[in-house]
Amino acid sequence: MPTGQLQYLADELSKLREQKLYQKLRILETEQLPVANFDGQEVINLSSNNYLGLTTHPKLKEAAVQAVEEFGVGSGSVRTIAGTMTLHMELEEKIAKFKQVDASVVFQSGFAANAGTVQAILGKEDVIISDELNHASIIDGCRLSRAEIKVFPHKDVEACEKILQEIQDRGGRKLLITDGVFSMDGDIAPLPALVELAEKYGCIMMIDDAHSSGVLGRHGRGTVDHFNLHGRVDIQVGTLSKAIGALGGYVCSTRDTIDFLHHRARPFLFSTSHPPSVAATSIAAFDVLEQEPQLIEELWANTKFFKEGLKNLGFNTGLSETPITPLIVGEDAPAHEFSRQLFRAGVFAQGIGYPTVPHGKARIRTIVTATHTQEELSRALEILEAVARKLRII
Ligand SMILES: *Cc1c(COP(=O)(O)O)cnc(C)c1O
Repeated sequence: MPTGQLQYLADELSKLREQKLYQKLRILETEQLPVANFDGQEVINLSSNNYLGLTTHPKLKEAAVQAVEEFGVGSGSVRTIAGTMTLHMELEEKIAKFKQVDASVVFQSGFAANAGTVQAILGKEDVIISDELNHASIIDGCRLSRAEIKVFPHKDVEACEKILQEIQDRGGRKLLITDGVFSMDGDIAPLPALVELAEKYGCIMMIDDAHSSGVLGRHGRGTVDHFNLHGRVDIQVGTLSKAIGALGGYVCSTRDTIDFLHHRARPFLFSTSHPPSVAATSIAAFDVLEQEPQLIEELWANTKFFKEGLKNLGFNTGLSETPITPLIVGEDAPAHEFSRQLFRAGVFAQGIGYPTVPHGKARIRTIVTATHTQEELSRALEILEAVARKLRII
């Protein structure tokens, strides 16, 4: 196939290869499990977001199969035409109840939920105040909204307030937005202080709880519950793709806000709704969160065990406070080399470099789940130690 017009893309890839930043996709050949087969090799899997092991939970599988039998494999339409099924409505009610809010709306992904919502609720007269490490889907939503974007240094409440003072007399609406748990560092946002600022300066407060739902708060209700800020956060986003084990994203807010999103959020209007199996799986997952609280206890017990092991070995785990624990290496190439050698030795922990994290902060990222055994985690620590010593990372 002639590709003259696209040669520049091949050139870009060559540059990545030269810099040793080219990454092949790893292929998962089994279920998403704590020990799984990738690229023909069995490895201890520290790279999934499958916090509670729900991707393979029998109740979720059964719900999916039953939904296929009863409702088929696809919804056949966008939500606003013919693609709103009873299962979608049931899921949204379940989520609203779980999060203790008036209403919720489900999107095809957490990415679509963030991007679609920020774009829909703001316009070019408005201003967004955003943590510098917020997720890419928030950043894209901000850009699509055409609002002015003011970025504050990571978790810096004082800097955030300074921006709010500077723009105090500015017209337009203000949106203060943050991740609840930050996906690359595993630290928790200073929500109580940010919520106070939002109240003091008249901002809409929005939180992206992708990594905290199913992880923090009672039964995994997220950071709003963790900090007991119910009723003080205007918009909460969550994902069905991580702890919930399926696929999708959701927005929680007032009934009117959700109704507005039905009319204006572009992914809701212009992209087909979930297959019934995904909605049914997610409904079953919220039941499991209520019925099997020991999963979250096991997640945190494993997190504590693994983090202590890493600290004892002398790894730099940054500011992590959650099951996401980065092992910070520094430059991009050595971080990727660390990841490659770990994989060969039997541990899958993805290397992450620029532009996903800032220059000089390259790392491998580890995420433990509720379903890892302590033997598996001990073995992972041994392998991490051996490879890191060889590469002089510790
Ligand atoms: C993963 C993630 C998303 C996107 O969720 P998906 O359902 O995978 O699209 C959004 N925000 C944050 C903070 C995330 O980590």
